[in-house]
This record gives sequence, C-alpha cells and structure tokens, in this order.
Amino acid sequence: MLDSIDYLCMNCFRCIQNCPKELIHKSVNPEYKEMGDYHWSADIISRQWYQAETGKIPVSGAGYPGPFCGPGFDSMWTDMSEIVRPTRDGIHGREYISTMVDLGRTPQYLTFGESTEIGQSRPQVISVPVPILIRVPEFGDLSDLTFEGWARAASMLGTLFALPSDCITMSMLGDSQSLVPILSLGGGDQDWIPEGVRMVEIEVGEEDDAEEILNFADKKVPGALVSARIPMDKGMEDRTLNLVKAGVPIVHLQGTWDGRWQDDESRFLKDGIRSVHLALVEDGLRDSITLLASGGIAMAEHVAKSIICGADAVYLDFPILIALECRMCRRCLKNLPCPVEIGLAERQWVAKRVRNLVGAFHNQLLEVMGAMGMRDARRLRGEAGRAMFFEELDQSTFGQLGTVEEGVELE
Ligand code: SF4
Repeated sequence: MLDSIDYLCMNCFRCIQNCPKELIHKSVNPEYKEMGDYHWSADIISRQWYQAETGKIPVSGAGYPGPFCGPGFDSMWTDMSEIVRPTRDGIHGREYISTMVDLGRTPQYLTFGESTEIGQSRPQVISVPVPILIRVPEFGDLSDLTFEGWARAASMLGTLFALPSDCITMSMLGDSQSLVPILSLGGGDQDWIPEGVRMVEIEVGEEDDAEEILNFADKKVPGALVSARIPMDKGMEDRTLNLVKAGVPIVHLQGTWDGRWQDDESRFLKDGIRSVHLALVEDGLRDSITLLASGGIAMAEHVAKSIICGADAVYLDFPILIALECRMCRRCLKNLPCPVEIGLAERQWVAKRVRNLVGAFHNQLLEVMGAMGMRDARRLRGEAGRAMFFEELDQSTFGQLGTVEEGVELE
C-alpha cells in the first residue's frame, strides 16, 4: 500500500483480517489525538468539521458511548419523554416547531395616547429565526475576508454577528442589518458605523453607569438596541438587575473559552445563566430583558441546555472558526503560520461553512425540542423543570447521608 485512502475507508477492518501476512495495521492517527484541548476535543472539532462541510447532523452510531455524567452541561439531562411520538417531528415538518426568539425589551403592557397611538411603551425587538448569534472568537488567523464571510453567513441565516467596530469593512454594507459593532466606552473605536445597524454591544465595567452607556450608544448609533456585556463572575446578578432597572434591554453574560465563570473555574456557564435568570424572575423583571450567554458553547445540545437554564439566545464564537477547519492548535497566538491558512479562505466558502454549521445546530435543536414536546424556543427559556441536574439529584438522594471527610474510613 503506497498511500492510505482515509477519506474512503469505512473501518470494516477487512483488509486487516484478510491480509495473509498480517502486514496491515490500523490505528488512530496521532495527529488527530493531538488536536485541540480538553474542552475543544478532537472529537468535537471533527464533528464540527463534518457539520460545516455537509450541514448534516453527525450520527455516531447506535447507543451513547460516553460517560453518564461530567462537568458543566454534561451534568444536565433533558426530558425526552415525547421522543416516541412521531407527530413531534420538527425536522421532517409533521409539526411546526418555532425556534424564533426576540431580542430586546418587550413591555408588560401597552400605553396609548389620546389619539390611540401607542405611547412610550412601543416594543423594540429584533426577531431572529434561530437562538444562535455569532461573534468573533478570541484568537484566530483572521483577515477581512474571514470577517466578511462571517457577516455574510449571519445575513444568510437572518441572525446577528458581533465584531469589533474597527473590523467592519465597506464590503459588509449589504449585510449591515446583521452586524453588531462592539464599542468601548473608553473610545478608540472606528467612528464609521454603516447605516442599518440594529444592535450594538458595549463592554461594561463595574464602575460604569448604565445611563452613560445608553447615552453613549445612542450618540454612536441612534435607535439601535444596546447590549451590555458583563463578565460571568461573582456579583453578576446585581449588576444585571441594575442594568435592567436603568433601561438596558439586553445583557450578555460572557464566560470563559471553556464555558466557566471568569473568576471561578469550578463554576460553569449553566450555573451562571441559571443564577441570573432566577434573580430576574425573583424581582419580576425577567420579561424586561433579553439574556445572551457566550463562552465554550461547543455542541448543539449546549444551545438547548443554555436556553433551559434561562438564556434567550447564545453566541457561538470558536465554532465559527473551527467550521473553517481550525485545529485549535493556537499557533496564531504565538505569531506562527496557521497550518490551514484560514485568513486566505474565500468569503463565500467561509459563509457557506458557517451557514452549514448553524443549520446543523438548528436541526439538532429541533430534535431536542421535538423530543421534549416543546414547540417554541421562547417557551423553552427557563424550563428547568424539563431537565434534571446531577447536583440536585445527588443532593436529594444522598445529601441526608452527610459528607465523607478526607482521611475518614467508612465502616
Ligand atoms: S488552526 Fe491553529 S493557527 Fe490556525 S486559526 Fe486555528 S488555532 Fe490559529
């Protein structure tokens, strides 16, 4: 055998069994094993490549070979009790399932002026057909072509793409409705923002005043929705409540690249989203705000689970880079050449790969929602009663037995 034909091999092992001299050997490619890290594992990367290439749901075979429980989203199970009902089939269209979500502030009631015009409580929302937004990842071998491809993908999907304002180019003019320029209160941003932008994101520090943020955004992009980005860390519940009370319509909770809190690696994205969601419910403010979450969302199931925990929608960051065949080798962080030269990729190719990936995520969301018997993504938000959390089950089942201290032997 001069060269292997990995892309055609079906792993039937016939060649290995039938080789009379037992010369053929097959093992996992060491380069594959080396890819990524503990969060963006080789398995996750290769599945995202498949989805970006084909737009199809990756099927790994019968049964689930993975662990029963794990950290983060892996300690959460969704209620799939309706999976046996064929009418609940969102993908094949036998029952319509809506994945549309609204971003912005929806008033509790409408007020009318004397001439029956709607008063100040006019709702200002952006409806997106999928609860998935995309944003520029923290690193990558990126070029204007990449940014333009991502903007095109967001436009084709009808969703939004958050990017630093100085990365916006003239070629994105046609996609301006899908852009979310990221601005900083400290200034230094590009002054030119294309017409048609509907939402802006502002990074908010602990000392920043909500009113100042709203005024700043209104001056920069009049009429656009404001999304305040805060780190997922201790005290985020109070900060979110303050922002909502001051009139900020969207809060974006940003976790780390591996889906944890920024100041506590033992706590995960799902815990942060739940905590803020419940604080808003407690104060009767949940419907006055849109909650976005980002950080470490690696699989379609993470989208559904984030929404169950209380997010309205999530941002994908590294998946839109992995869709372009990134290996998460981090060579670009060390100023070394990218092995796949992502920055040279044509914008149309970039757009198609990302559209395929989000399309595959969308189909999996439909599968989960169909199996849960949910017909509307807006209804899924905060439906924690339709999920089980390992920590809670563990506590309710074994909590009364006490804790085992280190060094103490059980009888
Ligand atoms: S493949 Fe490696 S060098 Fe290229 S963008 Fe991805 S992490 Fe960076």
